[in-house]
Amino acid sequence: MIIILKPNSEQQNVAELIKTLETEYNLEVQRMDGVNYSILGLIGDTSALDTDPIQEKEVVKKVMRIQEPYKKVNRAFHPDDTIVNVGGFEIGGNRLALMAGPCSVESEEQIISIAKKVKAAGANFLRGGAYKPRTNPYRFQGLGIEGLKHLETARKETGLPIVTEITSVDLIDLFVDKVDIIQVGARNMQNYVLLRELGKCQTPVLLKRGLSATIEEWLMSAEYIVSGGNPNVVLCERGIRTYETFTRNTLDLSAVPVIKKVSHLPVIVDPSHATGLWWAVEPLAMAAVCVGADGVMVEVHEQPSEALSDGKQSLLPDKFSKLAEKLRGAAALMGKTI
Ligand code: PEP
Ligand code: MN
Repeated sequence: MIIILKPNSEQQNVAELIKTLETEYNLEVQRMDGVNYSILGLIGDTSALDTDPIQEKEVVKKVMRIQEPYKKVNRAFHPDDTIVNVGGFEIGGNRLALMAGPCSVESEEQIISIAKKVKAAGANFLRGGAYKPRTNPYRFQGLGIEGLKHLETARKETGLPIVTEITSVDLIDLFVDKVDIIQVGARNMQNYVLLRELGKCQTPVLLKRGLSATIEEWLMSAEYIVSGGNPNVVLCERGIRTYETFTRNTLDLSAVPVIKKVSHLPVIVDPSHATGLWWAVEPLAMAAVCVGADGVMVEVHEQPSEALSDGKQSLLPDKFSKLAEKLRGAAALMGKTI
């Protein structure tokens, strides 16, 4: 439920209303002051609440019930876009986040070399998996802590902030210490224990959409993190399972305008995992920017045929450089810069 306050209300009266809601109705109240409005978001069980006495309060313009089960990530609760600040780079504002790098960190030389090339091309974040949740247990599982250290070295060499995937609660302290954005992969989108724990830190979280998750389920996962106290969540559409098998997944680009309508969180698109096909990455990355995505995540490898994971969907650095150039044009169309 939300309460829209009358403009220029007496602060004393607003404070009294908040106190009543907290103490008499046992609700958590989140206050948002925008330029043209002030809103109180009510969290808790409001199903049996009689809205009439609230509606009659002097400071109240309107009481509205929210149908959706997600509250804190709901745009009704927070009409302004959330901007996630990562070391000065703002995701969700006028910059386009361009995250690039290999699927897996394979060695120090590999990640440094790719980091330099994607940086020169215009990427503003370096991605690379150190802990790899693979479908096949016999395939490369990542370098683990060594991989994280290589990412740190690459950050030191290039200045690019690093994005890497977490696979378990036990790794949170390590990731908070070393990583700029903690990625929650598609396979862990519904790992609620992990999400709850990530709500207790302030490190930005990149929450990928689950393989078969509806937009509402995805937002409920974001709600776990935000309601736990970490507002720094960026969503990532990475394709969903459908009956189509030509592409690895089906990129649901409509998710971008839907998210923008129903939530205030930034949303980026990963066309690499969505398609599994390197040649399909460019057109879909362009489309993603044009439907309003706040960023793009792309896999890049210097020898895709030798890659330890996801070579088929990885761009050569040269190709990435050309893509970045095109994305600058698409970003400009949308009033953004890279
Ligand atoms: C990845 O980014 O390397 C990855 C495993 O992605 P997803 O969780 O979307 O499959
Ligand atoms: Mn990958």
